[in-house]
Amino acid sequence: MSLAMNIVEIATQNGLAENAGKINMVELEIGSLAGVMVEALTFCFEAATKGTLAEGAALQINDVQAKAKCTKCGTLFFIQSHFDDCPDCGNPAAEIIQGMDLKIISITVDE
Ligand SMILES: [Zn+2]
Repeated sequence: MSLAMNIVEIATQNGLAENAGKINMVELEIGSLAGVMVEALTFCFEAATKGTLAEGAALQINDVQAKAKCTKCGTLFFIQSHFDDCPDCGNPAAEIIQGMDLKIISITVDE
């Protein structure tokens, strides 16, 4: 719930800064290892927007597949979990370079 509220807060602050009458859409990028339950987030987002500039705004979510870079051979590969081994050399230590976070990509407002 707090995550949805944070997103709504950022969105409404942006909307206010742009003197928007209404926020129409919030676009997010969510990494597959970000630990975000999309359905729960969507549900909470709707509740969190009630009575704000973002009430009724659509939430668009783009999934980002997590990616890692092998610390040994430098191969880039997609991962399903934090514990995936490098497919090339089997090295278990890979640096996760993408897919760990949630980002707000854009906020669409009505002037
Ligand atoms: Zn490797």
